[in-house]
Amino acid sequence: MGNKPILVSRPSLPNLDEFVESLKTIWDSRWITNNGDFHQRFEKELAAHLGVNYVSLFSNGTLALISALQTLRITGEVITTPYSFVATTHALHWNGIKPVFVDIESKFGNIDSSKIEAAITPKTTAILPVHVYGNPADVEKIDEIADIYGLKVIYDAAHAFGVKKDGQSILNFGDLSVLSFHATKTFNTIEGGAIVCQNKKMKKRIDYLKNFGFANETTVVAPGINAKMNELQAAYGLLQLKSIDEHTERRKQVADQYRKELQGTAGIGFLNDIETIEHNYSYFPIFVDDALYSMTRDELYFKLKDNNIFGRRYFYPLISEFPSYRGLESANPNHLKNATRTANQVICLPIYPDLTSTEVSRITDIIKC
Ligand SMILES: *Cc1c(COP(=O)(O)O)cnc(C)c1O
Repeated sequence: MGNKPILVSRPSLPNLDEFVESLKTIWDSRWITNNGDFHQRFEKELAAHLGVNYVSLFSNGTLALISALQTLRITGEVITTPYSFVATTHALHWNGIKPVFVDIESKFGNIDSSKIEAAITPKTTAILPVHVYGNPADVEKIDEIADIYGLKVIYDAAHAFGVKKDGQSILNFGDLSVLSFHATKTFNTIEGGAIVCQNKKMKKRIDYLKNFGFANETTVVAPGINAKMNELQAAYGLLQLKSIDEHTERRKQVADQYRKELQGTAGIGFLNDIETIEHNYSYFPIFVDDALYSMTRDELYFKLKDNNIFGRRYFYPLISEFPSYRGLESANPNHLKNATRTANQVICLPIYPDLTSTEVSRITDIIKC
């Protein structure tokens, strides 16, 4: 004890003087929300930065997920993963859709694409995978299955800001991808999110849906919701783009140091970089195998806590274990063996751009002894 608390993430903020300059512009214009100048600029610059066609900004990632399902008029059953943040499944529930959980592969924690076909029924309309920790789901196989069975694919890409596969944005796979810009994510607008889509017509529908369905002053074309991002957050987001590359580089250094220092510690597993992937280092999960390590995952989690280090057990418990979903047939743990084991082994260690190398060593020293 006596050491200052280290949390799992610590938001990077834009330069305050520059943000005040933006605020002055907003104060002068009195345009504070509804597709103002900053909003329009942020959508364009974000699309360019990410290497995607169209971005629609949202007030948060959850409303973006809910609206993405509305955009494609998804109904019936949707195949998804229990190994995610609860919002993934909640978005289905809020659309009156039945989630169908499929197990994960045990290496990266993404949905096991080889088990998707067996879960398809006549009611299945879409697949909702997650790029867990920013490692791409099996996008080629998933898109191929969707093609064969006539299903839509929406990727929950809340962890995958800036991730590329063979030089191409991971957000360009599937029909839609959904981002979150929550304070805890790699790229934040305090709260915020976005839907990435491929064509203008789709963007138009998304933009109607996030603004009550208004096409113009008197025409409401769909039962929309209010999920708009305001001008202050758009201005803040524009400034965040200036430092994101530098911050990703710093995160990489943190991840590299963790790997170097934890290498060879029996019973502590971690993920290595994949050669074809440009990673964003959004999380640093370790997996505790208590048959080989000196204590259980929870014992290590609480030992870290006692030392003022606040890792998080993302994702434990599984979504399929929460009361709202555990009654579903697909929530049966016997069919979710990899997800259950991974949820019982994981601790996400602190990672953020200004985590110092001394702090990383403080954390690894506790894990190693
Ligand atoms: C953070 C997160 C969300 C929700 O995003 P918010 O912006 O917090 O609403 C959804 N899915 C996953 C996987 C997330 O990590």
